[in-house]
Amino acid sequence: MRISVLGVHYTLEYRKKAKDTNLAHCDGYCDFSTKTIVVKDYTAAERKEPMSMADLEAYKRKCMRHEITHAFLYESGLSINSLNLDGSWATNEEMVDWVAIQGPKLYAAWTAAKCL
Ligand SMILES: [Zn+2]
Repeated sequence: MRISVLGVHYTLEYRKKAKDTNLAHCDGYCDFSTKTIVVKDYTAAERKEPMSMADLEAYKRKCMRHEITHAFLYESGLSINSLNLDGSWATNEEMVDWVAIQGPKLYAAWTAAKCL
């Protein structure tokens, strides 16, 4: 699938860990150089692992929103230009995850308020 991120085309993919070694260390990533976003897809065996989340499809969607948020911050220039000695707010994982988790609720509230 392809989407526009502030006018830049990004390719979105779900991949199994066996097909992408980057996924051995994370659940997803945004490669700004190739404009590619990859989120881990889970095998049947991984879904049965102890402590595995019951709703991995919802988790995968949250991870995709997280990586898309990184892409928006990068393409806007904020991820590069917000840097300071303590780190950049625009690359802060907590802030990016807040947008990814709360985004659907913000969108629903804006839609209900007819302010979009
Ligand atoms: Zn992140």
